[in-house]
Amino acid sequence: MSIGALKSYRRIVVKIGSALLVDRAKGLKQLWLESLGADIAALQMQGVEVLVVSSGAIALGRTVLGLPAGTLKLEESQAAAAAGQIALAKAYADVLGAHNIVAGQVLLTLSDTEERRRYLNARATIETLLRLKAVPVINENDTVATNEIRYGDNDRLAARVATMLGADLLILLSDIDGLYTAPPHKDPNAEFLPLVEAITPDVEAMAGAAASELSRGGMKTKLDAGKIANAAGTAMIITSGIRMNPLAAIDKGERSTLFMPSHAPVNAWKVWISGHLEAAGRVVIDDGALKALKSGKSLLPAGVREVHGDFQRGDTVSIVNMQGMEVARGLAGYDAGDALRIAGHKSSEIEAILGYFARSSMVHRNDLVVRGSREAVQAVLEESV
Ligand code: GLU
Repeated sequence: MSIGALKSYRRIVVKIGSALLVDRAKGLKQLWLESLGADIAALQMQGVEVLVVSSGAIALGRTVLGLPAGTLKLEESQAAAAAGQIALAKAYADVLGAHNIVAGQVLLTLSDTEERRRYLNARATIETLLRLKAVPVINENDTVATNEIRYGDNDRLAARVATMLGADLLILLSDIDGLYTAPPHKDPNAEFLPLVEAITPDVEAMAGAAASELSRGGMKTKLDAGKIANAAGTAMIITSGIRMNPLAAIDKGERSTLFMPSHAPVNAWKVWISGHLEAAGRVVIDDGALKALKSGKSLLPAGVREVHGDFQRGDTVSIVNMQGMEVARGLAGYDAGDALRIAGHKSSEIEAILGYFARSSMVHRNDLVVRGSREAVQAVLEESV
């Protein structure tokens, strides 16, 4: 099966492993990075949104600071990340700038993707960069994260970024060209797998613990990333990025493994909202608002009659009709206190009432699942498995 041209995807997250970017002795691999920049520009020209999750800060910082080979202490790797990240950001700004593309650096910590309020903020920032046609260049904020509160590997970070942004494809570029039935450097009979339809325990057993000195990943964390991505409806490709123009190479048919998701991305986000969270509050809406929700619109404060519970922005709220029946679920755009104050008012009055204007909707349609909709049915099916 062919993976389909990259231009057929709408939003692609590309994860770049350290070993591709950094040569221990010489530092940054400038020509390679330029070829990646050209590939990204070509995709953008074709209407594809591209996000980069780039490793390499620690590896580059080691070279810049002249730290010795071998394992670094936590504070040394954080110092290396500090020195390396600044160089990395400049390198991306330069290579993308050569194509008149602006790079926007985003440094994330684990809580930015795992806590819902911060998640919404991080997502809004990255969405805004994309809307402005900038390429987000994302890495973990290694300078402050301690072991307990960090991802530690960019494979899973990239998968969370992909699911957070509803990307339809995640590409992991590293020094491994895909999945084999066994680690190929250990088993000469290992066979290459171009397509994996589901990451089952049998598939996981094929991954050894192998990792090169510069990359933390190895196949195991790549499969973990695949599970995160696929479950949320994002396809994943693992391929070697060692060659020049590594993204164009995928379209040319160079070896890669495609991991298939079971459903489309937008549904997955909504399935998550509707099926897997306790509601922290309840809002009662009038019939006009109900009609608007059913036709796919956002919930505006004007249609909200009552607000119950002590929820905060980003918490799940149950949306009920005048008869008290749950008709939808969604993520609150405002804390309960503010929601109460603007309930029943026009969106144009929000600023005068609250003293600030954040958003016109109480629950945005992207963060809303109406009962009886396809996503809601899917969530019920998933829960009963
Ligand atoms: N965030 C780390 C860095 O930039 C890389 C983590 C990884 O290699 O997966 O150096």
